[in-house]
Amino acid sequence: MDKRHFPPDKIRNIGIIAHIDAGKTTATERMLFYSGFAHKLGSVDEGTTITDWMEQERERGITIVSAAITTQWREHQINIIDTPGHIDFTAEVQRALRVLDGGVVVFDGVHGVESQSETVWRQAERYRVPRICFINKMDRTGADFDHALQTIRERLHAQPVPLNIPMGAEHDFAGVIDLMTMEAIRWSDDLGASPEREPIPEALRERAQAARSNLLEAICETDDTLLERYLGEEPIEAGEWGAALRRATIDNRLYPVLCGAALRNVGIQPLLDAVVDLLPSPEDRKEVVGHHPQTGEEEHWPLQLDEPLCALVFKTVTDPYAGQMAYVRVYSGQLKSGDQAYNPRTGRKTRIGRLVRVFADRREDIDSIPAGEIDAVVGLKDAHTGDTLCALDHPLVLESIQFPEPVLNIA
Ligand code: GDP
Repeated sequence: MDKRHFPPDKIRNIGIIAHIDAGKTTATERMLFYSGFAHKLGSVDEGTTITDWMEQERERGITIVSAAITTQWREHQINIIDTPGHIDFTAEVQRALRVLDGGVVVFDGVHGVESQSETVWRQAERYRVPRICFINKMDRTGADFDHALQTIRERLHAQPVPLNIPMGAEHDFAGVIDLMTMEAIRWSDDLGASPEREPIPEALRERAQAARSNLLEAICETDDTLLERYLGEEPIEAGEWGAALRRATIDNRLYPVLCGAALRNVGIQPLLDAVVDLLPSPEDRKEVVGHHPQTGEEEHWPLQLDEPLCALVFKTVTDPYAGQMAYVRVYSGQLKSGDQAYNPRTGRKTRIGRLVRVFADRREDIDSIPAGEIDAVVGLKDAHTGDTLCALDHPLVLESIQFPEPVLNIA
């Protein structure tokens, strides 16, 4: 396999979902910054600041709101797929939810669950997309972590399990307490510096202990063997807790929660860790469901590299540099530059030309897009958003529903 391709278990295709203004853009920027740029930061003397980076981004005309952006964290490839926040555009939201394997739901620490987050949460529920929650803006006046958790319970009827709790509040919000390692993580204003790990402050110890017990008990409730061992006071390794929590997250039984303040760069690294540790990889999704274009019969395809090609065009854009670009998720087989793919909607074969991977600060030419990956095809003829690309002798259509075009409400 090409060294630029990660094995499927090391890929995370995620969407960031939020009510407008909760901080989705800021959180996404920070995630891209810390993952893609952490290694370049080096010393602060280089003068690389997040503002510089964002300014350069704007000048280059590459915005972080591309259809999908690739980044890397801890030897994993994270593809962040743009999920439209506008609830009226149902087709787009549903398509985005189909393409991703997991989601990060960003909430405003002052408001908790708001109306749009409720709507998109329900849609994610329908597609059984595993989610982790990020309670953002913990530095704002009026931010209240417990209240935010309560709104998740009451308005979303979901069981939130905090993995960390805030240290300090509002203007004094300084970091989080990691309930797995029972350490305090404190951020400084120095962007280049790693957050400091230190003992939990005395005043917060009792609260942290109680929160840790709640977390472990919630995990135990999803795993009988673990529960028995926990009650029998047997030692349980951190990795075992982690594995059980991951299973419960993937099964939509638990919703891990982290807190932070994206604008102040607090809590982003633990969020990236949680994406890698808890959200599913393309391998965790066993099959893709579509139907045969002629017989209309439902078909279930395994998600394997050595199966026939099956890919969904989930967004087509006109790129200022590359021209027509189609973002695709490949479910099985692979798309190769120079190959032909069949489009059941047009009934024609189409040649696959240039393939690119979109990073926040650059694009990279690649030779193929293997199963599990999300990348872009340049100059794909006659391809529309929602089209399936497949092998001529193994036709499959992924999107059968004809969604209405979005209607603009002009008052
Ligand atoms: P989006 O609409 O969800 O993409 O939200 P944005 O990322 O554009 O953020 C909305 C506003 O909230 C902007 O003015 C941000 O600067 C601000 N914001 C984002 N994150 C934080 C945070 O952690 N703390 C505070 N105080 N403000 C934030």
